[in-house]
Amino acid sequence: MTRMWGIDPQLLCDQHLLGEHTEMHQAVGTLRNHPHGEAIVRGHAERQQLDTSKLQARHDDLADELERRGMTHDSPMNYEDTQELGSINPERNRANLRNRCDDCQNRIETMETDSTTN
Ligand SMILES: [Zn+2]
Ligand SMILES: [Zn+2]
Repeated sequence: MTRMWGIDPQLLCDQHLLGEHTEMHQAVGTLRNHPHGEAIVRGHAERQQLDTSKLQARHDDLADELERRGMTHDSPMNYEDTQELGSINPERNRANLRNRCDDCQNRIETMETDSTTN
């Protein structure tokens, strides 16, 4: 399922970071290549899973974080949005990730502890 988490990429575990990055490429691929691409992406957008106007910037932020962690990124994106479909809810997504992923939860709690003690 396509989902743009939209939270600070540093809070994502490796798996969710890689996953979201892949999904940004898939969303663009779907828009460009799938015969019903716009309808599919519109469905995700209506469920607040995606904001097409943020695809390029979000991809680039995720790619930067991948490289910062020493992972190779060799899939540049060059997408100019004309759809302006959807919106996301990063606060809700962050709560969702905390519930579903122990690794993300640890990262989120560590970062929150850091920011409150500093
Ligand atoms: Zn990429
Ligand atoms: Zn995770």
